[in-house]
Order: sequence, then structure tokens, then C-alpha cells
Amino acid sequence: MSALWNDVERAFQRLEAQPGFEMRSAQRAMAQFVCEWLESRTMGVVEAPTGVGKSLAVLLPAIAFCLRNNARIVISTYTNVLAEQYWRKDLPLALSLFPKAPVVALAMGRNRYACIDAIRGNKLPRVRPELVRMLQEWLGVAHEGVEAELDAFLRRKSVPPAFKAGLWDAIAVPPACRARVCPYYRMCFYYQARRRAAQAQLVITNHAFVLTDAQVRLTTNEESSLLDDYDFLIVDEAHDLMDAAATALEFDLDEAFVESLIAYAATLSNQIAYALESEQPPLGFLMSVQRLAEQFVRCCRTAFEQVEMPQLPPDGIATRVAPAALAEMPALSAAFRADLHTKVKHIADTLRAEIRTLLHELTQTLQAMRDQLTEAERQAAAEVIQQFAYGFTQMDGSLSRLSEPPEGVCWLEPTETGWKACYAPLEVADWLRTHLWQKRPSLLMSATLTIDGQFDFFMQQLGLETPHRLRLPQVFDYARQCALYLPPLGTIPEPPSSPSAPGAGEYYQRLAAQIEALLRLTKGRALVLFASRHEMHEVAQRLPDLPGIRILIQGESSNADLSKQFREDVHSVLFGLRSFWTGFDAPGETLTNLILTRIPFEVPTTPLQRARKARIEAQGADAFRAWTLPLAKLQMRQGFGRLIRRSDDVGIVAILDPRMRTRAYGWEILNNLPEGIPIFDSLEALAEWLRQRTDLANTISFSSRQIASGLLKDKLVVGENADTT
Ligand code: SF4
Repeated sequence: MSALWNDVERAFQRLEAQPGFEMRSAQRAMAQFVCEWLESRTMGVVEAPTGVGKSLAVLLPAIAFCLRNNARIVISTYTNVLAEQYWRKDLPLALSLFPKAPVVALAMGRNRYACIDAIRGNKLPRVRPELVRMLQEWLGVAHEGVEAELDAFLRRKSVPPAFKAGLWDAIAVPPACRARVCPYYRMCFYYQARRRAAQAQLVITNHAFVLTDAQVRLTTNEESSLLDDYDFLIVDEAHDLMDAAATALEFDLDEAFVESLIAYAATLSNQIAYALESEQPPLGFLMSVQRLAEQFVRCCRTAFEQVEMPQLPPDGIATRVAPAALAEMPALSAAFRADLHTKVKHIADTLRAEIRTLLHELTQTLQAMRDQLTEAERQAAAEVIQQFAYGFTQMDGSLSRLSEPPEGVCWLEPTETGWKACYAPLEVADWLRTHLWQKRPSLLMSATLTIDGQFDFFMQQLGLETPHRLRLPQVFDYARQCALYLPPLGTIPEPPSSPSAPGAGEYYQRLAAQIEALLRLTKGRALVLFASRHEMHEVAQRLPDLPGIRILIQGESSNADLSKQFREDVHSVLFGLRSFWTGFDAPGETLTNLILTRIPFEVPTTPLQRARKARIEAQGADAFRAWTLPLAKLQMRQGFGRLIRRSDDVGIVAILDPRMRTRAYGWEILNNLPEGIPIFDSLEALAEWLRQRTDLANTISFSSRQIASGLLKDKLVVGENADTT
């Protein structure tokens, strides 16, 4: 037994001595695996089902290792909310189990912090004066300068939520600022957090920050970074890393981007003016900077507005792909217009040239007018230009991907105001391998990483190779805690391929009828997950008023607000899309009924999906089996995982897609769910099951018309009879 494990073991003993904590063997097994991973300095993957307590299982070894070896470990999770949960809940508990603590820090992106200069410097013309006074008061008591802290402060002051609309955007740290020449630099929340993160042994952050750090290292040739050097990377919610990496690498050029580029240049000239504020400002120099910025704005606008695009198909059209041979593949060739790429390239190249010209001329102007500036002013202007040069260089890099994609697809799509030119990588495995995995030992973990019991798909998509894998058993007793409902054949038709396909209206109607029956069964308390926004609204429109049941629909408010309302109002129902299939946590009675409306197959209609399909087919594989089906299986596992969050949760899952019964892959999907779950095809039998376990179904109310007779005459169980249908 290693000394590291002894430290962790002692921490577990202290934890288990606390009232209410019980020993979890899976949590210890995982912690032991993390110790071995740290000591062997290799790559590792862990699938830790919900209930294992993976945050503590990774934090205890990480803290013990930092203390023993003075190492630097970064723990990344998908969102800021999850990172803050680590920071405010799990980390303090883990630290309390050790006699001494390593230096720890929370690192988030710039716009998560308030800019003191904006508040103190009276640069909030659109904010009510009484609110500005409150912000100034808040600065006196704020510790981290983050939005959650401000919200709590304003709540204590009884400020109505409507007054806060747009407030954070006005006070958040801008994309670039005068940094070291700002009078508030030493006390700046963001730069303090950066300094703490650079010195900390254990840093909690999110995937976007880790990926941005890797991009900064790349663009600055390792001369600069956000996280400084670190020894180990732990990626929680690793199933979301593929999406996070694709988002970090993709790029859209549209009117909004051009406006943000222009606003950035305007901020530059303002920040130089602020930095040189004095009794005798160097007006000649400031006017020259202003002229350069105005010229830049004019040229960028003209470059964008002069190009006319033809009418584009609703799903968009690919204009360039790398490797180029993919354009010939049937999946892509029907929606490909290489000639349009010339227009996109012209705009991207012009904007890149303007950026370089602006940076060059600013430096030249500073040099030419140095006699008009004091040494302090010259240094201040140089600092601001350098801060902004980083942001301009990032934009230049993004535009270059659209102009000459290294690997990936470019396409044009229509928008409400015109068009948008987009770039996205076709895969992220090589990038992650080169810029993350080859740099340091990494551990990737999640509740759902395997498909058909294997890590292969996940590892292939993320460019990972390692024999160090751990798949922990289920913690919850799913066979006792939940039941599955598959409607009898004929209850709902097959999902239409598009909203305009024949029979789509009938499908929405019958889907809504089944959902209504299920909602009546549990008196609300349901999460209904959809694969398409259109379908979600079609069903919502067809639902009658259900007394005492409030329907919350994604998009009507922020996801955080909807989640809060759903948790607080036990009888409410939440209609959600992709963001609620994964990571959403609503333990207890409020989520008793989970409805998955259809298997979330990706339909290759957009240029990106077509290009991905073309790439897989060019490799000689079947795109459905190699990509579409594994992703759907993973998402069904993630969706299913929303129901049982605690050992005392009980509930039902309805999968309303008839293909679960009619296609072979239906059983494959079922076999990816926990074993032993009873399956019903009758709402009466389901209600009876629920009645025996809860007091929820005492007032069941649905007509016999809604209970179609079942094809499954007897109760089935997931994992049995898998090959008999
Ligand atoms: S350093 Fe930048 S972000 Fe910080 S207070 Fe000053 S201007 Fe705002």
C-alpha cells in the first residue's frame, strides 16, 4: 500500500467518522485507481455511475498528491456552474479532511468577473445612477467579484430582478483592457484570480478555460498561458469534452462578428485614451489612434457589406472541405458550392489584412510620436496595444481557419439578417492528442463513457490510448427504483423525418396524447426530453391545460431559472432539449417521471453533419453504425441518468419512440441501460407499479382510450430476452 493511499485512507476515515456519511466501496475503489494513475503518470479513464461520489474520489488523492509532491493539478468540469459546485461544496469538504491544505484556486473566463474600472471609473452611461451607487457599495464587500456574489448582494438590497437586465454585460471584464496600466490592476478581481490560479497547486476550472489555455500556448508558441505550467489534468464530465473542443475550434463570420471586431477596435482607442489621461493629454497621438481606429472600422464594414451572397438553402451549403476529396462523396456533393468560398475567403483575408495593418500602424505611430509622449505614457500605450494584440491575433487565427481550413468544413447558412460563414473541425482527436494528452498525464471521468460496455468509441473520438481503464458498477438499485414504459405498437407512429413530412401532424398529436396520460399519472413531476425544438413546441401546443401542473419550456427563460423553478415546484413539468439530457440534476419527488420522446439520432442535413458522414464513408465505414448510433446510445444513457439521482429516488422512464420495439437497435439501446429494470407496455400496470412504491399515483386519471392494449403481455426486464424480439 503506497504512502499516498495511506494519506487518502486516513482522509476517508475522517469523512466516515462524520455523522451521516457511509462507506462507499465504489468511491474507495475509484480513489485507489486515481492514486495509481497519479503515481504511474500515465493516461486513465474512469466510468463512475451516478452515486459513486466521484468528486471526492478524485479530490482526496489530488490533494494528498499535491501536498506530498508539490505538484500542480488542474481539475476541469464542463460548465462554470459545475466548477463552482466543486469550488464551493466538494473542495471545502475534501480540504477539511487533511491536516493542512495545498494552495487552491478557481479559474474562470474574463467575463465571469466584474471590471472595477467600469464601475469606479463612471463608465456605465446606460445603468441607473442608483444602481451604480449600489455597485460601488458592492465593490467594498465583494471577495471574488463574480455574478453570483452580486446577485446575492442585490437580493439583500431588494432590487427587483427587472432592474438587473443587461447589468452584468455592462460591468463584466471586457475581452481586453489596459491591464497593468489600469489604476485598479492590483485589486482587479480577474487578474487576482489569474495570479492565484498561476500559483495554486490545485486549480478548479471548466473545459473552455483549459482549451483556451491550450490555444493561447499554441498562438504564443508556449510563451504565454492562462494556467501556467501544470503537471496533471483531470477532466470530469469528460463525455462533454468533445463538444467543448469542437466549440473552441469552430468559428462563425457574420455581421455580429464584424461588429464585435469593430467594437474591439473602438475599445482599444478608448483604453489608450484612459491610459494616457492626464492634465495635458498628448492630443496629437490620441487623434492619430482615433483616425486609425476609424479607418479600420470603415474598411471592415465595407469588406463585409460589399459582398453579395445568393439565396442560400435553409440548412446551408458547404463551400470548402479538407481533405478536399470529401467534396466528391455522395453525402456532401449534393450540397456543395466551391465557387461561393471565393467570396468568403475574400472577406476573411481582407479582415485579416486590416487587423495586421492596424497593429502595424499603431506600433509605427507610437514610434513616430514618441517625442510627444512622456516615458510613462509611451509605456502605458505600448501595454494597451500589447494587450489588444493578443485578442486581434486570436481573431486573425479564427479567420485563417475559415479562409484556409486545415482540416474541417466551411459552409454558408442563411440568418435572419443575411448570411453566416462557418468553420468547424470534422474531428477533435488529433488536436486534443497534440495539445493536451501529449503534454501531461490526464485522467478522464464521467458517469457515461462506455457504449455496449466498451470505452472504444469515446477513446477514439478523443484521441486517447490507454490500458488504464476503470468501469465501476452501478450504485443504485435500478431494478427496485425505476420502471420503464414502452407504449404498445400502434400507439404512436414512427417519428417523421422532417416537420413537413406526411403524417407529422398525426405523430405530434399522438405523442402529445401519450405525454398527457403520463403527466396525469404522476400529477406532473416530469422531465420531458425532446430531440428537436420544433417537435417540442408542436407537442406543447397540443397539450390541454392540466389543472395544477405548470409546463416550463426551454427557451422561455434561462436554463438556470427553469431548473430552479422545476426543482421548487414539485408538480411542474419541464420540456427540455439537448442541454437537459446531460448534467441536469433534480433529485427527489420533483422528477418522478422521465419521458424520452424519441431516440435522438442526428439526421445529416446540415453541411457539418453531411461532411462528417462523408468522412466516415470515405474511411469505408457505415456512418450510422460508426457515428449516429453510438452517439444516440450515449445520449439515451445520459438522458436516462436524469431520473435516479439518490438512493431514495423512485420513478418511471417512458421511451415513446416505437423504433425501440421495431428495430434491432432498440434492444441495443435497452442493453445500454442498467440491468434488471422492469418494462411495462400498459399505463395501468405502470401505475400499479408506481402505486406500490409511492403515494403519488393515488389520483390516477386517464381514460381507457389512452391505454392501448399491449403487445408485451408480460412484464419484461432490461437485459433479458434481448434477442427474442
Ligand atoms: S485591469 Fe482591466 S478588468 Fe481589471 S479593473 Fe482594470 S480595466 Fe477592469
